Amino acid sequence: MNAIGMSRRRFIELGRDTAAVTLATAAVPGVALGQTSGRPAASGRPMPDDVSLPSMPQRSRRPDSVGYAIVGLGDYALNQMMPRFSRSPRSHIAALVSGNPEKLRRVGEAYGVPADARYSYEQFDRIAADRRIDAVYIVLPSGLHADYAVRAFAAGKHVLCEKPMALTSADCERMIAAGHRANRRLMIAYRVHFEPHNIEAMALMRRQEAGKIRFVRTEQLSRTDPSSRPAENWRIDRALAGGGPLEDYGIYGLQAALYLTNEMPESITAATFQPANDPRFAQVFASVASQLTFPSGAIAQLMTSYDSSGSNIVHVRGDTGALIMDPATGYEGHKVRLEGRERRELSLGDPTVQFAAQLDNFSAAIRDGVAIRTPGEMGLRDVRLIEAIYTAADTGRAVRLSPDGKMRR
Ligand code: NAD
Repeated sequence: MNAIGMSRRRFIELGRDTAAVTLATAAVPGVALGQTSGRPAASGRPMPDDVSLPSMPQRSRRPDSVGYAIVGLGDYALNQMMPRFSRSPRSHIAALVSGNPEKLRRVGEAYGVPADARYSYEQFDRIAADRRIDAVYIVLPSGLHADYAVRAFAAGKHVLCEKPMALTSADCERMIAAGHRANRRLMIAYRVHFEPHNIEAMALMRRQEAGKIRFVRTEQLSRTDPSSRPAENWRIDRALAGGGPLEDYGIYGLQAALYLTNEMPESITAATFQPANDPRFAQVFASVASQLTFPSGAIAQLMTSYDSSGSNIVHVRGDTGALIMDPATGYEGHKVRLEGRERRELSLGDPTVQFAAQLDNFSAAIRDGVAIRTPGEMGLRDVRLIEAIYTAADTGRAVRLSPDGKMRR
């Protein structure tokens, strides 16, 4: 596959730029190469489709329950995470942050969040004085994660941040440093680490139930149609979404390759595709494919796309068996099959516990100091690997890596 219509080197330079976001690409009409804008800003969006707001008031809460401010009232916050707070005994929604006053009011009333705990983006820094808020949950477009995390730490709050952690490793490092300075905890919301099928898959691979891992193949594929969900157009805007499908969806395949092999890759080759004359891909890639080689000799092939029929598969082939996860990393409906000495389907309970279990871990980290299963360092590691994938695609050469995921010069 070839990248056309934009300079991938420009894209990688963009990834290294922490001071300004460059919109430069020959494929963006009216935007000259090298032109820069400020960092993207948060702004209000309409209520997403298909939201059913709760009609019941929130449960009474434990005295040690952690109060979260939800920042960004989009599809994932409203349809997945916010309804699951009621299943995490030590977590509750204490405040909301949104740029849409009417949405803020409706969601605030439905979740029993008082009017004086509803903030606009402009008022965000005032959360410092709000003792009801212990932690901030950042569910904004990815290009906004770093700035809001740093501001939340400056306000003295803990930070649970959606994936990808940020769009550049420099921003990830900035977030980690801000957390250390503030002496506050940072977690990346990789819910799959709390999902029973994926947890069991990790354990099976550690026990070598398919033997020594030889290959991992992952497909995180979808076909994007921004015209049907205009509020989600940020996913094809480079300043907010980076390269596109890899940061958004392919990151699950990257994660799976790492948590199933339990290794870091030592080298990466990759290719990207950006079709000409398709407005969906004026700024982001349509497809990214990469190949990771691990010290054990295992090889992972990762495919991700915004322009393919849908698929969410993780397939491991060992020297004596295989693990097939299809679908592998969604919200529910997981199916996992182990083919080893025997062939068996794994039935492991309700995948939807992943949302609340993730909150349980972060609230326990804040209250009891327990380890965070998916800390900022894991988010940084993954963003470094994403940068390495783009570098490999750009140069057409294998990129060699240090064990911490940094590219070797
Ligand atoms: P979305 O478009 O539905 O919601 C984003 C919200 O951010 C909007 O509703 C709006 O309120 C707010 N916003 C503020 N400034 C904005 C701007 N400039 N442009 C657009 N929106 C702006 O997106 P989403 O699917 O809810 O994704 C939000 C975050 O959650 C992303 O980081 C995404 O990667 C992550 N996510 C994670 C999962 C998961 O399974 N962990 C699933 C979906 C999304």
